[in-house]
Amino acid sequence: MKTRFTGHFTQQEPIPEDAIEAAVAVMRSGRLHRYNVAEGEAGETALLEREFADLTGARYCLAVASGGYALACALRAVGVGPGDRVLTNGFTLAPVPGAIASVGAQPVLVEVTPDLVIDLDDLAAKVRASGARVLMLSHMRGHICDMDRLMELCDGAHVTVIEDCAHTMGAAWDAVPSGRHGVIGCYSTQTYKHVNSGEGGLLVSDDDRLMARMILLSGSYMLYDRHLAAPPAEAFEDVRYETPNISGRMDNLRAAILRPQLVRLPEQVAAWNARYRVVEDGLCGARGIALVERPAKEAFVGSSIQFRLPDFDAAQIGALLANCAARGVELKWFGADEPRGYTSRHDSWRYAPAQALPRTDAVLATLIDMRLPLTFSIEDCAMIAEIIREEVELLALNAPG
Ligand SMILES: *Cc1c(COP(=O)(O)O)cnc(C)c1O
Repeated sequence: MKTRFTGHFTQQEPIPEDAIEAAVAVMRSGRLHRYNVAEGEAGETALLEREFADLTGARYCLAVASGGYALACALRAVGVGPGDRVLTNGFTLAPVPGAIASVGAQPVLVEVTPDLVIDLDDLAAKVRASGARVLMLSHMRGHICDMDRLMELCDGAHVTVIEDCAHTMGAAWDAVPSGRHGVIGCYSTQTYKHVNSGEGGLLVSDDDRLMARMILLSGSYMLYDRHLAAPPAEAFEDVRYETPNISGRMDNLRAAILRPQLVRLPEQVAAWNARYRVVEDGLCGARGIALVERPAKEAFVGSSIQFRLPDFDAAQIGALLANCAARGVELKWFGADEPRGYTSRHDSWRYAPAQALPRTDAVLATLIDMRLPLTFSIEDCAMIAEIIREEVELLALNAPG
């Protein structure tokens, strides 16, 4: 009889007890709004910002309502407006082109490589051809491109880099935390990311003026002196009148449950990577499976794993998904014609002008994605890899030709 996996691919760990207690304390106080603090009290949101700034080595941090809000806030802060063009990865999740569209700008999509990172040659060509002054770089599924080359290219062309670190909180390139290469780093604290407050986002930057603008944009009611990771009051002087309030603050309840999770982030990263390596080892060398090689300079967080099936056609991939699902293993495919769940592709973002991305399309046509929640044990991961391997090899064996 074939083994069947019975775990749930969308089941996250519970919120830690100390975080629950901190949340209950906030609720007992009634002071949920970040600026509603008692005499001498810092407030959970301001403390979270201080702690996340320290964790990433950033001078400043702002907590906001979602990862998508963080992206749009960063775009507004650097001055992107209606009609502007913003470069971004042709393979990412919908909140990224969505954030660009939300400020009336147009995404200029850049090809990705078979290793799932932005194609730097195509980026160079599109920087020249589009005249875009901003790159929203998405570290999609935790894959980090050669950041040395990318920053050299963008600095040389005066392109401002905003990093989408929804999948790289806790990751680094060449020992520099992800989000600290560009001028602003954006993170999500939504349930499926690396810390879980249901919804939420974080922004980091060293730039006084940009952070002052983002704090004002987020809806600070001129109470920015209550922040603990904000630029000095002077930085707000000339922007406080010209920056609209586009409310998207984080509240103390969410911040309270995030602070204890940040402390545990390094342990969680180690736990994810142990699971990732077991799945990777289990798939390594399987006939028909191409794994993504991880560069030595990339310290990643293996909260999901991707692999390609370069010789499979759509029918075989469909069969693989069905056969794995029948054995309890939930794989996602980025090559389907219709977006399902989170797998939407650039051709379904029809609010943006249609763009030809033949190399990205070829990669996505055979790209499989799988989440690795920490509720899976190491043994679960070994079993999952075994099931995928068996099913891929069975289909490869039965393939014509
Ligand atoms: C989740 C995600 C975001 C932000 O999402 P929110 O749900 O708004 O927090 C941004 N980029 C990518 C690639 C994501 O997966």
